[in-house]
Amino acid sequence: MEHQGRHALVTGGGTGIGLGIAMGLAEAGAEVTITGRNLDRLQQVAADHPRLHALQMDVADAANVRNGVTSAAEARGPIAICVANAGIAEPAPFRNETLDHWRSTMATNLDGVFLTFQAAMATLDRDAWGRMIAISSIAGLRGLKNAIAYTASKHGVIGMIRGLSEEYMGNDMTFNAICPGYVDTPIVDRNAAIIAQHQGVSDDEARGMLARANRHKRLLHTDEITATALWLCSDGARSVNGQAIQIAGGHVT
Ligand code: NDP
Repeated sequence: MEHQGRHALVTGGGTGIGLGIAMGLAEAGAEVTITGRNLDRLQQVAADHPRLHALQMDVADAANVRNGVTSAAEARGPIAICVANAGIAEPAPFRNETLDHWRSTMATNLDGVFLTFQAAMATLDRDAWGRMIAISSIAGLRGLKNAIAYTASKHGVIGMIRGLSEEYMGNDMTFNAICPGYVDTPIVDRNAAIIAQHQGVSDDEARGMLARANRHKRLLHTDEITATALWLCSDGARSVNGQAIQIAGGHVT
């Protein structure tokens, strides 16, 4: 119960990686606000644990984030642990990329982290204990073809983490990015379906292709990302700051 009495906020906490982290934090004693656009799904998930609390919040909407985070903090206290996880991954070859799609990817994956961190940190005193974690990707560290907007947005997240770790140096607050390879979540399901359709293979074969893109040739499981997030929130990781931690089955950068 290491985090008993702490309030954590996990964006995109109703599914996949975010849900795994939210559940891990709740089991470690934190009161956890989970957010997303789909309130029904969040409420269903929150029913599984007494310390999970559903909140509808679109991370691409500044007023929605500000009001949502403020109401969560009023209900459960300052947000000592913030996991900016919400994101979208919609592949598009560069020559077909549209400005609208580019902007919507940036709005969710990059503006969303900025808005979430800023609103969460506004609930904390400057010298407060805090753990700010963003879910980037190995695409935040290296190029991913047919996903230029995604790649740029995830590089931007790591830039934000590095800048914030400098700006708050010496405070009891750390900023880190987790950079997974392909993880078995709904994003991979959706991308496997797109690959299957474009390449005329089965969904299973397409999932196999994504698994083989990880160096150890298997999809990661969400518990592997949860374990890293919990470690970053632990006392033992108090000097781990400004890092982009790769969980990809083997060397990436
Ligand atoms: P999911 O699709 O399960 O999770 C994405 C979550 O983000 C959903 O819960 C969704 O909730 C939420 N979300 C999307 N857009 C918005 C928005 N505008 N406002 C609020 N919430 C939003 O996939 P993952 O769990 O895999 O993805 C989580 C993160 O991990 C993403 O940032 C992704 O880029 C990153 N990642 C994933 C990898 C993978 O292979 N799975 C690899 C590397 C990184 P809702 O629909 O209710 O809004």
